[in-house]
Amino acid sequence: MDDGNYNSRGLQRQLRLLVDEARRNEDKLQRLQALELLLLGAESLSELVQMLLYRYREDFGLDAVSLVLLDPNYEIRRFLEDEPFELARHPDLIFKSDGDAASADSTSLFPRLGAFDARQHAHLFNIVQTELCSVALLPLVRQGRLIGCLNLGSRDSRRFVNGSGTDLLERLTAIISICLENTLNVERLKHTGLTDALTAINNRRFFDQRICEEIERARRHRQALACLFIDIDYFKKINDSHGHQSGDKVLRNTAALLNEQMRRSDILARYGGEEFAILLCNTDMEAAEEIAERLRLTIYATPLTGVNHEEIPITVSIGVASLIPQQDPAMDIEQQADQLVARADKALYEAKKAGRNRVRLVGDGGLTAE
Ligand code: GH3
Ligand code: MG
Ligand code: MG
Repeated sequence: MDDGNYNSRGLQRQLRLLVDEARRNEDKLQRLQALELLLLGAESLSELVQMLLYRYREDFGLDAVSLVLLDPNYEIRRFLEDEPFELARHPDLIFKSDGDAASADSTSLFPRLGAFDARQHAHLFNIVQTELCSVALLPLVRQGRLIGCLNLGSRDSRRFVNGSGTDLLERLTAIISICLENTLNVERLKHTGLTDALTAINNRRFFDQRICEEIERARRHRQALACLFIDIDYFKKINDSHGHQSGDKVLRNTAALLNEQMRRSDILARYGGEEFAILLCNTDMEAAEEIAERLRLTIYATPLTGVNHEEIPITVSIGVASLIPQQDPAMDIEQQADQLVARADKALYEAKKAGRNRVRLVGDGGLTAE
């Protein structure tokens, strides 16, 4: 074999390798662009999250994808729960409550590629089918602020190598960060129409929507559902003697006190002026009464103050009702909701009539003693 022939074959082989690589890159670029378009078209936060966790993994043959989101005020989790999106079914969606960037493994705001190290990276992936060998940790950043981290894992140790180019990944994460911010803003906008401006808790519109959803859910899972109506006693007098602004402050603080006592699954709303409503999921009358009593005592025992720091002691009356188990099947959900609210309101009226600062229950056949 002469040298010329050998060289030409060598060159041809090199050329083929280059063409192959160019094709692979072209293919990768096309798939990446398709993914980016898909992400940009996500209509909701839950859709975006699912695209990132599952679609990305599948389309790019990754062995693990997890998304860490910084969510110090539980805002994102609340949005997702309202969608409804079962957080427990998506273990690779990980929330960090503190700003501890190390927990998102992104003290750096730039992508980091390299070998998988169980001590450093195991906590970033909950669903791992196979042993990971290399990872890419991609911080999600908006306006110079870390908002989360997308973590990719592969069994192939050559998939993510320290020092390799990250231009495409940087572009992808910039797009993901914008998509996240956009869908979060859409959720925020949706929620402003459902939030009470004074107390920052849910408003009546939100409550009216949720009560129907919760009744449906309770029926489907054959679970109990309790409703509490809470009204501040003699609130008009507070306004009259301390002024409207102090009245507002008392309302805000009462809402905050109630909110602190709630479980994540409970739904609290400002139903009207100085009246609050609570839905307690999977809670029977006995447990609901205990909770109502605890709320009443907490408010009774917590000194609130007005705008001039003057003490304003308050009490509340609470009516408790629960969903009737053997409901007439012909009754539609809205009627059932109206009935549940009316019964809690009736119990509240009884609590007022009996002297205020107390809890009253309503039973199936009418009112029962406390
Ligand atoms: P009861 O023990 O029977 O509930 O007596 P009450 O005085 O609390 O009840 P009433 O319904 O007579 O008065 C409620 C008052 O709440 C009247 C209204 O001016 C006041 N209120 C309603 N919304 C607001 C608000 O947003 N801010 C303030 N400061 N007061 C409010
Ligand atoms: Mg009142
Ligand atoms: Mg009232």
